[in-house]
Amino acid sequence: MGRAVTLMQDLKIRDKTSDLHEARWWEPAPPAGGSEAGNRVHCYLCPRHCHIGDGQAGFCFIRANEGGKLYSLGYAHPATMQIDPIEKKPLNHFLPGTRVFSMGTAGCNMGCFFCQNWDISKSRADQVRSSYVPPEDVVSLAIRNGCPSIAFTYNEPTIWGEYVIDICHAARERGIRTVMVSNGYITREAFHDIYDHIDAANIDLKGFTENFYGRITLTHLAPVLETLEWLKNETSVWFEITNLIIPTLNDAPGETRALARWILEHLGPDVPLHFTAFHPDFKLRDKPRTPPETLHAARRTAIEAGLHYVYEGNIYSDGAHTSCPACGTMLIRRSWHDVEEMHLKNGECPKCGLAIPGRWANSEEKGSRRIARSAETALAARYDDLNL
Ligand code: SF4
Repeated sequence: MGRAVTLMQDLKIRDKTSDLHEARWWEPAPPAGGSEAGNRVHCYLCPRHCHIGDGQAGFCFIRANEGGKLYSLGYAHPATMQIDPIEKKPLNHFLPGTRVFSMGTAGCNMGCFFCQNWDISKSRADQVRSSYVPPEDVVSLAIRNGCPSIAFTYNEPTIWGEYVIDICHAARERGIRTVMVSNGYITREAFHDIYDHIDAANIDLKGFTENFYGRITLTHLAPVLETLEWLKNETSVWFEITNLIIPTLNDAPGETRALARWILEHLGPDVPLHFTAFHPDFKLRDKPRTPPETLHAARRTAIEAGLHYVYEGNIYSDGAHTSCPACGTMLIRRSWHDVEEMHLKNGECPKCGLAIPGRWANSEEKGSRRIARSAETALAARYDDLNL
């Protein structure tokens, strides 16, 4: 216990909060090899199934064992909060043209060499600047900033699932929707606890081979595919998929074709798929940016495979627009993350009447949010220094 206290003090966890928040999804674990002291715990929130000794943290580094209990160090301590267009998540069929209150903490349960948010995802909780923001205040900030939704994003939100769930409860009470931007690396035991409260998700499908997942993300492909099937078959969550294409690592046409065919067969043709461009970052600086032609070719392949809504991201491209798969009419014209034209009528193509799958805003909801917004101003004013 003495070593544990020392380590926890080293992490400055007690400097951050006097009340550690006990985690969910853990159980006591037997001592390792019979020789180590007791108080080990097993975290079963994600497929890593970390067994964590007293005074240590799991792979994601924001779930730590103190005295035989697991604590969630990210709870109520966001490291990043900002307002984004919903198209940046990316979500193209969920409240298009609206702002989303976006937040993340420290840590991650994957080890992607190409991480583009590595400054927070590869940090411990005590290595990032964070503010204390309880769940109900997150919702107040979203409303005050005119955001009809809150996104859990930037780092992997699964690993701070306790905070996500409490924000979702507070958000639902006030008519604000919630979004997971996730790598999909979550266990069956935790899946419904979190996603039953979520309105929309974007799941990163980072490649389509076990070799890529094992070598470049230090995880496995199969659990991510399971998550996508659970989302489709067991929830009403609106979800889209992102595939970041990295030259020479996951850009083989055969891999893209297999990925698109799997989506068609297991999820159907209407799940939007975003092919996005890589830029050199973190431990993967020896690969070039993804050429636009690679994204164009991937999009063609996925459409030929039978998917209806295939997008290109991180480049300026006509592949950002939404067109009717039946008659080809332009429905939503975008430039990067901006919606420039919106022609959908009550979620339908104005020319042929095809219902376009998604969650489309209506004016009634916008009005109720305007009223709620003024009531939040005083409470949220205490966060003025965040410059949101
Ligand atoms: S959530 Fe974190 S501590 Fe829990 S199993 Fe995954 S990596 Fe390990």
